[in-house]
Amino acid sequence: MLNGKVAVVTGGSRGIGREICLELAKRGADVAFLYAGNADAAGETLSLLREQNVRAEAYQCDVSDASAVREVFKTLLAAFGTVDLLVNNAGVTRDKLAMMMKEEDFERVLSVNLQGAFYCAKQVIPVMVKKRSGKIINISSVSGLMGNAGQCNYAASKAGLIGLTKSLARELAPRGITCNAVAPGFVETDMTASLAENNPLLDNIPLKRFAKPAEVAKLVAFLASPDADYITGETIRIDGGLAI
Ligand code: NAP
Repeated sequence: MLNGKVAVVTGGSRGIGREICLELAKRGADVAFLYAGNADAAGETLSLLREQNVRAEAYQCDVSDASAVREVFKTLLAAFGTVDLLVNNAGVTRDKLAMMMKEEDFERVLSVNLQGAFYCAKQVIPVMVKKRSGKIINISSVSGLMGNAGQCNYAASKAGLIGLTKSLARELAPRGITCNAVAPGFVETDMTASLAENNPLLDNIPLKRFAKPAEVAKLVAFLASPDADYITGETIRIDGGLAI
């Protein structure tokens, strides 16, 4: 279904991003992914992708660095020739109650999670506008919808992504480009590894479990597919009912 399409996924080395890369490849897309620095994990994703007989490349790039993002997109566009899908998935947390949070922890989370998504979108938009088609998918979070004590930086970045999504959707719709967001609740990845089993958090999740990264990836693959051509500016929760 995505044969001949080129997908760029940020934060593709681990967790949800890796599963997104694999799911898009399973549906036939070639995949370029970015990662922050974990070369071993990136290498593993790359081998798994290549087993699926698609073109795949990994690029080390800190998405919060605008000039590094410009350079890496130049390189990957030269290698792949085009881009059809962008998944802004790279994200970090630096949790603390607001009164204890250092300014640099607030700034770092905003710059990776929100500014990084804008920097990457900025690189693909001219290509997509020329083709008059393309899909941008931003990985937000229920924290951005509900807020979360101890996560004012993260929740602000994820709420910001929803505003970015809606604005890009309005701006780019006339050019045949859609932009949507996905808002996961708790997903089993390194990011939530410290939240032990039997966590009282489970009481707040009607489905009583965390999501598997592959479940989020399937939703992203749906939004990336032609079946979602008429959906834009939407934020879809995948949270086991947490934010009902
Ligand atoms: P993860 O397991 O911690 O993986 C984070 C990924 O982002 C890694 O590939 C990492 O690269 C990359 N990354 C981090 N900082 C980066 C930077 N500055 N530049 C480029 N890449 C960077 O995270 P995850 O749990 O899969 O989360 C993926 C996304 O889903 C994030 O946006 C997160 O906020 C969101 N989300 C997660 C959950 C959850 O419960 N896990 C819930 C809601 C939303 P390296 O491997 O090189 O470090």
